[in-house]
Amino acid sequence: MNRNGFRKGAGLLLAAVLAAAVLPALPAGKTGPDQEMGTGFMQLKAYAAQQKGEEIGLDPEWKYADFAAIKSGKAVLYKAQSNRKGKVIAVNAGHGTKGGTSVKTWCHPDKTPKVTGGTTSAGATKAVAVSSGMTFKDGTPESKVTLRMAQILKDKLLAAGYDVLMLRDGEDVQLDNVARSVIANNKADCHIALHWDGDGLSTIKGCFYMSVPDALKTMEPVASHWKEHERLGDCLIEGLRAQGMKIWGSNPLDMDLTQTSYSTIPSVDIELGNQCSRHDDDLLRQEAEGLLKGINSFFGY
Ligand SMILES: [Zn+2]
Repeated sequence: MNRNGFRKGAGLLLAAVLAAAVLPALPAGKTGPDQEMGTGFMQLKAYAAQQKGEEIGLDPEWKYADFAAIKSGKAVLYKAQSNRKGKVIAVNAGHGTKGGTSVKTWCHPDKTPKVTGGTTSAGATKAVAVSSGMTFKDGTPESKVTLRMAQILKDKLLAAGYDVLMLRDGEDVQLDNVARSVIANNKADCHIALHWDGDGLSTIKGCFYMSVPDALKTMEPVASHWKEHERLGDCLIEGLRAQGMKIWGSNPLDMDLTQTSYSTIPSVDIELGNQCSRHDDDLLRQEAEGLLKGINSFFGY
């Protein structure tokens, strides 16, 4: 068989296998064979579209949208196929925005200075739009691991009936920390940013979350939401602990983050270890299971 013939044959075979795998799971068409074929095809298209996800950009009308500097990218919303819980979890694979360090955004919507150190030091009013993240001891960039973690968590959440808004669904998303938070505010029920800590230590630290510094608890929108941010953080840590993950003895750590400053839904930065931590799929799956436990507990499931 020539190459084209082989391709055509393989294509037909693939279509037949897909139809056999997908169609029986879908409700049957109403009448005669022609209509069933048509309905089946439409259902197949709808199913494929859901698997692909729906792109969601930043609406300039949304509150705080005008504080974003990098905003041309799209988040992607995936919907659970069964056991639907009616909750959308925004999963934020930390870092991963090309050019993110060459632009700055206001640390706080009221333009007051930052109250703790971090990637940007205390006292600054503007911070890099998206930092590049740390590098693991084995040379792997943090942004690669946060993306892999987000993908594993996405599949686990979808299987559990949660819809998932992937704020970064590929290697690069042109959405800064403000844009990601604002999209999550308007399209999700909670926002979980995945990170590993670049603390410079040569020992494994364990998981912790970034809690809200006292000095920010009177600034809106933090004042109205910090208790829910911290309750979400506590639930995630308990889920990870229940899954047997190591928790840092000093958890949580107060940090003035752009994410928190612009969040109007429960929102947390979870650090799943540091640059010495293992980050193979087996461990990431364990951590994702722990996060799922925490999310279930947060929503009362
Ligand atoms: Zn990070």
